[in-house]
Amino acid sequence: MSEFALIDLLHARMDSARGDVVLGIGDDAALLESRAGEQLVACTDTLVAGVHFLPDAAPADIGWKSLAVNLSDLAAMGAAPAWALLALTLPRGDADFVAGFADGFAALARANGVALVGGDTTQGPLSITVTALGWVPAGRALTRSGAQAGDAVCVTGTLGDAAAALALRRDGTATPDALLARMHRPTPRVSAGLALRGLARACIDISDGLVADLGHVCTGSGVGAELDADALPLSAALHGAFDAAASCDFALTGGDDYELCFTLAAQRVAEVEARLGALGVPVARIGRIVAGAGVRVADAQGHTVAVPHAGWEHFSP
Ligand code: ADP
Ligand code: MG
Repeated sequence: MSEFALIDLLHARMDSARGDVVLGIGDDAALLESRAGEQLVACTDTLVAGVHFLPDAAPADIGWKSLAVNLSDLAAMGAAPAWALLALTLPRGDADFVAGFADGFAALARANGVALVGGDTTQGPLSITVTALGWVPAGRALTRSGAQAGDAVCVTGTLGDAAAALALRRDGTATPDALLARMHRPTPRVSAGLALRGLARACIDISDGLVADLGHVCTGSGVGAELDADALPLSAALHGAFDAAASCDFALTGGDDYELCFTLAAQRVAEVEARLGALGVPVARIGRIVAGAGVRVADAQGHTVAVPHAGWEHFSP
């Protein structure tokens, strides 16, 4: 299929319309309505075949995930998602791939009211770059820099599932569906991010691993953190597939979780549990912010748990 036929195919499968799209796909650029009193929040993320997804991943899952990782970044800022742009590089004009990809992308876009307003389609090694745009009331974005000593550290959902699924798949071991789903179709915590405005002091989404990402909050805020290994929220599926030590390691360093890690005044933990609970989002209190620097993990006896490597990093030797 030609470039323009592929764009038409993609466009036809997108069904989220928004009143603030003055001009969407089809012109040289999109025209989008701005909002008084709000700040535009923008992020972009690339998925490369063999690096961010397995070569045999289903096109619909790749489409879903390419948007999910971006909506997760918006969620971590407390932003309401609005629009996305999609730069698609494909080895061949593969209509089946594009149709599947579009269906996965559109399903998540629809669930979050996101309109695809433009992009680019080129030939080359399979790579997908999505740019997502959203809104936050001026001055109310959640950032990495507001954590204070004494804050509680909390996390949504469960950790380590996607990394465990990847490890099992790489070993050729049967992988529980519950873990595979977490790897292929992460759920960005959009509603939780909105509910954390005015409540969390700092927030980040966990893409590279809890220790690495919380480490960014610590650096950004000029503080340290202590995590309780026993408090890490682990799924039944993870427990079923790995022993306690391996599960803990996936949760601390595996990454690809797309959960939110945030800090807040300790006396407000009950409030956050109630707010996120009402949204059906589980929240676990996993530690505290302390004076100093870096992330320390302790077991039930208070002994330091060694963390072999903090998390995923490109270009690491
Ligand atoms: P130009 O050559 O002016 O950059 P293109 O031919 O690349 O325009 O794109 C035509 C229209 O289709 C533009 O509105 C562009 O935003 C849109 N478009 C191209 N590729 C994609 C894509 N992968 N996803 C969404 N919109 C796309
Ligand atoms: Mg173009």
